[in-house]
Amino acid sequence: METKNFKYPDTKAYEFVISELKKRGVDLHELSKIACHLQEQFIPQLTEEECYQELNNVLHKRELLNNVMVGLELDRLAEENQLKEPLLSIVRNDAGVFGVDESLALQIADIYGTIGVTNFGYLDRVKYGIIKKFDEDKGHVNTFIDDLLGAIVAATCAKVAHKYA
Ligand code: MG
Repeated sequence: METKNFKYPDTKAYEFVISELKKRGVDLHELSKIACHLQEQFIPQLTEEECYQELNNVLHKRELLNNVMVGLELDRLAEENQLKEPLLSIVRNDAGVFGVDESLALQIADIYGTIGVTNFGYLDRVKYGIIKKFDEDKGHVNTFIDDLLGAIVAATCAKVAHKYA
């Protein structure tokens, strides 16, 4: 099915992502705080408010919204047992060899160049704060969200770094 000239307003995608993140218990300030923590060693005058503004900027980017929407929905569908096997079990169990969650998130970080990608890799290893919370919460399907949050923070880091470059 394809409708030529179909367009969706980015504001709908933005509203969807913000509302889903809120439902999942994500406080956007927690994300901008991580970005601030990672960047203040390079930019001493950096403020949390500034990082929060840059977080909001990256959250308006269409390519980021597209990938975040897909990932969040796959978590939700798996949580509600709406996916078919074997994908259902793969996503529900966060199978280590799957890798689509990391790829989808890495693509977001990649939009922001080397600083985005290296910070994404770093966050994937250290899993700060709220990212760690999702990584360790085994009661829900969090296969995509932890990587997506890491990518959003990494994108924010890059945006802040580029601003001061
Ligand atoms: Mg994952």
